[in-house]
Amino acid sequence: MPARNILVINCGSSSIKFALVNEDHEHSAISGLAERLGSPDAQVHWQQDGNKQSLMLPNADHRAALAQVLPLAQTTAGGQLHGIGHRVVHGGEYFTAASKLDHSTIAAIRATAPLAPLHNPANLLGIEAAIKLFPNLIQVAVFDTAFHQTLPEHAYRYALPESLYRDHGVRRYGFHGTSHCFVSQRAAEMTGLPVNASSWLVAHLGNGCSTCAIVNGQSRDTSMGLTPLEGVVMGTRSGDVDPNLHGHLARTLGWDLQQIEDMLNKNSGLLGLSGLSNDMRSLEQAREQGHAGATLAIEVFCYRLAKSLAAMSCALPQLDGLIFTGGIGENSALIRSKTVAHLTLLNLALDELANASTVRGVAGPIHAHGHPRVMVVPTNEERQIALDTLALLDA
Ligand code: AMP
Repeated sequence: MPARNILVINCGSSSIKFALVNEDHEHSAISGLAERLGSPDAQVHWQQDGNKQSLMLPNADHRAALAQVLPLAQTTAGGQLHGIGHRVVHGGEYFTAASKLDHSTIAAIRATAPLAPLHNPANLLGIEAAIKLFPNLIQVAVFDTAFHQTLPEHAYRYALPESLYRDHGVRRYGFHGTSHCFVSQRAAEMTGLPVNASSWLVAHLGNGCSTCAIVNGQSRDTSMGLTPLEGVVMGTRSGDVDPNLHGHLARTLGWDLQQIEDMLNKNSGLLGLSGLSNDMRSLEQAREQGHAGATLAIEVFCYRLAKSLAAMSCALPQLDGLIFTGGIGENSALIRSKTVAHLTLLNLALDELANASTVRGVAGPIHAHGHPRVMVVPTNEERQIALDTLALLDA
């Protein structure tokens, strides 16, 4: 049987990211972004074989943009497109794995929208448009939360009145599941350990950041919670704060809920602390030039990340390795070094030469000889979504 092709789609409220993944190839044959959908400036950009192209699509909506993208993918796949994998942010407790899309799964994704009011409705726009355009192609939803449905109850429950969980689904769900799953499986492959007999800590550090404890291929704890705001410091999200902050800001400054949520999600994290940028590259450059805010943002980021990893270690029977991934985790030797320096009680130490040279897509070990394993493993969420889609095609 020739290698199969899956189109992976990730819809936001005004954008669609896409990539064509062939099961035999690590890198996608074509990938791109349709953005500013619904506005006069709507356009789609894509790259193929190193060539970049763009097309203006004034006022195109999700369906009009997909009507351009799908034939592009079909042609690139030589007419052999086998399925479409859709990234969906929140699967609640209903979805413990990827699921074929039909009327009942679409209804369940819609029913989960109160838990992800910005994301799930946007994901559904893409799903419904793609099904209308390609009614005969198998389409699959792959959830950011599903990998974490193996968390034990003592890890997923908040210490809140039981009725909030029972009647309203208030619990910890976790996100970045496709990435945590992909890199832990890849780390097991790279080290020759069986996935079902290995224990990992993962730090996924991109614009959003989260940590995860993975035992025998299953998520046992993770830093994000009911929403992606909980946990470590991120680009513009605060991560953990005292929950009484809401009341304090409302009473002392008269802020309403929208203002508080916007501040915590959009103006905090690295951006809020530094007063400069949410982008780690800019902060590292500013720190070198003595910028106090950038220096502090990096210190807080690394200390809180190390604290979260130490907390995650409670879920592990042994440590087979700490994995760094995501744009920061894959590229920033400084952040890896500063974070590991706070983890000497776990006996972690880096080989600084290996750390400095393991960047820009390179995978490999970076720990000092005689210390527990620390690795850099580039993530590939599109590939994991395609693999989950293929598994359902085979089922
Ligand atoms: P992602 O969301 O995975 O694309 O990651 C985005 C983050 O990775 C941003 O904060 C970038 O500044 C950061 N990043 C990308 N390349 C580097 C680099 N060479 N050094 C430090 N941070 C980087």
